[in-house]
Amino acid sequence: MYSTDKKWASDADAEDPLRLFRDRFLFPKHRGSDVVYLCGNSLGLQPKTTRAYLDQELKDWENLGVEGHFHAKHPWMPYHEFLTDQTARLVGALPPEVVVMNSLTVNLHLMMVSFYRPTKERFKIVIEKHAFPSDQYAVKSQIRFHGLDPETALLEVGPRDGESIIRTEDIESLIKKEGKAIALVLFGGVNYYSGQAFEMNRITKAAHAEGSLVGFDLAHAAGNLTLQLHDWDTDFAVWCTYKYLNSGPGGIAGCFVHERHIKDPSVHRMAGWWGHDKSTRFFMGPDFQPIPSAEGWQLSNPPIFQLAALRASLDIFDEAGMENLRAKSKKLTGYLEFLIRQSSRKDIEIITPGDPEQRGCQLSLRIPAGGKILFEKLSKNGVVCDWREPDVIRVAPAPLYNSFGDVYRFYEVLEQI
Ligand SMILES: *Cc1c(COP(=O)(O)O)cnc(C)c1O
Repeated sequence: MYSTDKKWASDADAEDPLRLFRDRFLFPKHRGSDVVYLCGNSLGLQPKTTRAYLDQELKDWENLGVEGHFHAKHPWMPYHEFLTDQTARLVGALPPEVVVMNSLTVNLHLMMVSFYRPTKERFKIVIEKHAFPSDQYAVKSQIRFHGLDPETALLEVGPRDGESIIRTEDIESLIKKEGKAIALVLFGGVNYYSGQAFEMNRITKAAHAEGSLVGFDLAHAAGNLTLQLHDWDTDFAVWCTYKYLNSGPGGIAGCFVHERHIKDPSVHRMAGWWGHDKSTRFFMGPDFQPIPSAEGWQLSNPPIFQLAALRASLDIFDEAGMENLRAKSKKLTGYLEFLIRQSSRKDIEIITPGDPEQRGCQLSLRIPAGGKILFEKLSKNGVVCDWREPDVIRVAPAPLYNSFGDVYRFYEVLEQI
């Protein structure tokens, strides 16, 4: 269906029902024109509306001071609730199962406090080999915090020799083999390096069959894949919002806790006043009564500017619809894959799975020699993607603001250099 003819790209853009969303975003410039931005997996672009959303809060603060908690246009006291429904739709959750708070690694720790409760028999954590460093550090520090040794308590599943993708059956057989010794299975939704999307549904089933809990780090999956956290029966999940969700650098993160845990008072947690029952929070009593929803894991009153920036982006996501975005994404990344395969550079190996169900928008290109030079030349020519040591260029067309023309331009520059 694809073609290397430039006209194919302009026709595909003309037919793209989501094409107008591109105009809602601000693109950095290169020699006076928009860059080809293929780096939404690292930092999403700024929506044109973000400034107005932030300005509203600055104005309300200016005019109302502390009264803004109740009388701002969007009152600060319940501000995080304005994001709940959209967030729930985005990850396939019930509204009480989600909350936006803190940052990703912080939320991962908070979730492990609740859901990694090792016992003498059941104390191991299963993660993907080459997980994002922060996840590896977080997991190992939790293991040590409980007086255990990562050497024995951490199990990593990796690709087989000579392969780049982790086979689901290998994950399942490790879980089965270790069975009752596993306390927690913690996987990425999409691996940041290879771009592989894991079969979260199957991983959850395998873990639950052995009686262990399951959590997902959705940093590269939220706003990229269609997710069904509630139906998959996932115990918890965490994600950041500055990648595909365009909330701005260091933006506030998301957190999911399955319905069956949110009302369970036996679940241990770190507590803070913002997680306390809203009706009695301001009685300032000494005993913590958690809100019976994911909000019960909140610690502090949240950063309103960050919430406002995230709202600007989620309002756009809601309009576009995650299903539509995913449909375009498959076509867009398929096109990128096609063009790379047609390219005269024969030294590029795509390590991301070829099956669109096993990946999101990112393709990871392994270039055994001279990859860094190629990457630098792409940058000099106004193509923004990123480099991951030792030999990978990550390229991620985001369906919300990238066009088929962008992907074609990447190919053109690749051919020119
Ligand atoms: C981006 C990313 C992070 C970043 O963590 P922060 O706490 O937001 O700095 C963590 N884990 C994964 C898998 C990531 O891709």
